[in-house]
Amino acid sequence: MRLALVFAVFFAGCANPPRRAEEQVKPSTISSPDGQILCAVHHIPLTTMRGWRSDAIILEHPIGEAAAREEACIPNTIPPWESRVRTKECTIPGEITFCKWCDEGVGCDF
Ligand SMILES: [Zn+2]
Repeated sequence: MRLALVFAVFFAGCANPPRRAEEQVKPSTISSPDGQILCAVHHIPLTTMRGWRSDAIILEHPIGEAAAREEACIPNTIPPWESRVRTKECTIPGEITFCKWCDEGVGCDF
């Protein structure tokens, strides 16, 4: 009986149709009425400062629903290929842009 219940839950999970792409992708930034670029979650202006970049190609994708939800709540963090300070990986000077609250980990429920 318990095994049948496990299989029923497993197959019910498989039967759920995938979400449509437009439901999954939300913009990470919005424009204010005066044209300023704001974080779409926190509605504060993005910060641009001198920083450092890596020339490595780094692919990043959340794995699992919890990671995707977390990424949706902090969409404008400093990515792994950029840094405020020079590091072993990030050696190319340049401007970096991010949301202060996203980078501090302030999620959707602030
Ligand atoms: Zn933000």
